[in-house]
Amino acid sequence: MTEDRPFETIIEPFRIKTVEPLHRTTRARREEAMREAGWNPFSLRGADVLIDLLTDSGTGALSARQWGMMMQGDETYAGADSYYRFEAAVKDITGLDHVIPTHQGRAAERILFRAMVNPGDLVLNNTHFDTTRANVEYREGVAMDLPCEEAAVEADHPFKGNIDLARLDRVLSDNPGRVPLVMITVTNNSGGGQPVSLANIRGAREICDRHGVPLFLDACRFAENAWFIHLREERERGRAPIDIAREMFSLVDGATMSAKKDGMANIGGFLALNDPQVVVTCRNMLILTEGFPTYGGLAGYDLEAVAVGLYEALEEDYLRYRIRSIAYLGDRLAAAGVPMITPPGGHALYLDAGSMLPHIPWNEYPGWALAVAIYLEGGIRGCEIGSVMFGQQPDGSEQAAPRELVRLAFPRRAYTQSHVDYVAEVLLRVFERRDSLRGMRMLESPPVLRHFTARLEPLPQPN
Ligand SMILES: *Cc1c(COP(=O)(O)O)cnc(C)c1O
Repeated sequence: MTEDRPFETIIEPFRIKTVEPLHRTTRARREEAMREAGWNPFSLRGADVLIDLLTDSGTGALSARQWGMMMQGDETYAGADSYYRFEAAVKDITGLDHVIPTHQGRAAERILFRAMVNPGDLVLNNTHFDTTRANVEYREGVAMDLPCEEAAVEADHPFKGNIDLARLDRVLSDNPGRVPLVMITVTNNSGGGQPVSLANIRGAREICDRHGVPLFLDACRFAENAWFIHLREERERGRAPIDIAREMFSLVDGATMSAKKDGMANIGGFLALNDPQVVVTCRNMLILTEGFPTYGGLAGYDLEAVAVGLYEALEEDYLRYRIRSIAYLGDRLAAAGVPMITPPGGHALYLDAGSMLPHIPWNEYPGWALAVAIYLEGGIRGCEIGSVMFGQQPDGSEQAAPRELVRLAFPRRAYTQSHVDYVAEVLLRVFERRDSLRGMRMLESPPVLRHFTARLEPLPQPN
C-alpha cells in the first residue's frame, strides 16, 4: 500500500501554534553588541541573537499537551497530584523504586554524592559532565574519566560514548572499597554528545556486579541515546525507543536526570534509585535545600511538563527529526570539508576550530575566535569548548585544552529545516574566509569557570 512506503523527506513532526519573533540585526549592530559584551558570547543579550545554539538545556519548545497538563498543575505543598503523575512517569520509564524531584540535574548530583561519596573516594564515569565532576570534587572525591579508546582512533565508530570496560574492571580491581559508584553518561555530553551502546551498559553492569559496586546513569539524554541504539546497534536495530530506554534503566541501580534536556521541560530534574537506605539520606538532604519530597524545588506545573515530556522525548518521529536535522547540518559541512567531530552528536555539532584555524595558536583561543566570527557573520551563538573553558589551571597558569571546539547545541523542537539551512550557509561563509580570522586576547578573567564572564578583545589584523 502506498501509504506504507517510506518517504525520503523527514519533516518536523509538529505544526506551530505559538510563535516567537526572531531578532534580525545588522552586522554593525552585532559588532557593537560584541564590544558591549566584552567579546564574550555568554554576555550577549538574547535579543541580539538570531539563532541561539548556546545550549540545548531548558531552551526547547513545550507541546500543547504539556501546556494543557500544566494548566492542571496541582500546587498543593505536600502530596500534590502533579507529583504522583510525575512519579508514575519516571517509574514507568526507569523502573526504579524511589523518585526524588529536583530543580535541575546538578541538584540530583549534589544530593546523591552527599549520600554516597566520602573524601578520598573514586567515582568512575565514561566522561564526567562539568557539574558532575564539580559535585564529586566538592565532596573531596576524585572524578576519573574512562572513555573508550575507539573514540580517539576510529573516525566513525557508532558508539564513541562507551565506557572503557577493560579499564573499568582494572580500576575497580586496583581500588577495592574506594569506589562508591560508577556512572555512565548518556549520551556522553563532554565527549561530543556521543552515544553508549546497550552492550556496553550490560558489560558495565556485569563488571560492577562482580565488584559489588552500584551503577548509575547520568540520564540527561537517555532518549537520544536510545534512538542511536535503535539506529546503530546490530542486535537492537528497529526496537522501540521506549523499550530500549526501559532496558537501559533496568541495568542500573539509579539515575540522575536534568529534565531540561530529554525531559523536554524548561526546568526540572530528578534522582531515582533502588537502595532504600540511600534514599532516606537523599530525601533528608532534599528537604534541607530543595524542598519537600513531593515537589523538590519545582512548581506543580513543572512536574506536569516533565511527566508528559519524558514520553514525548521517546516518540520516534520526534527523535528522527531531531537527530536528522543535526546530521543534515553535519552532511552539508562535511561536503565542504569543514572539520568537526564525526559522527555528529545527538544534541549538538562540534566544529573543530583547532584544525580549521591552524594559524591561531591555542593561547589566542581559536574556538573562541570562531564562535565570535559565527556570531558576527549571521547572528548565530555557539559555545567555545577549548582553551578558554578548560585552559586555566588551579594555580592560575594556562595550558592548552585537549581540543579547540565550538559546540552548536540545538534546542528541542524550536528550529525548523530552513533555520538549519541558514546555519549551514553562515558557517560555510565563515569557513571560506577562515584564513582571515584573528585570534583573541584575554583582558579580564575570573579565577574559576572563566568562560562565563571573561572579557576579551580581538587581536589586530597583521599588516
Ligand atoms: C546538563 C547536564 C547535567 C546537569 O544538569 P543541569 O540541569 O544543568 O543542572 C549533568 N549531566 C549532563 C550530562 C548534562 O548534560
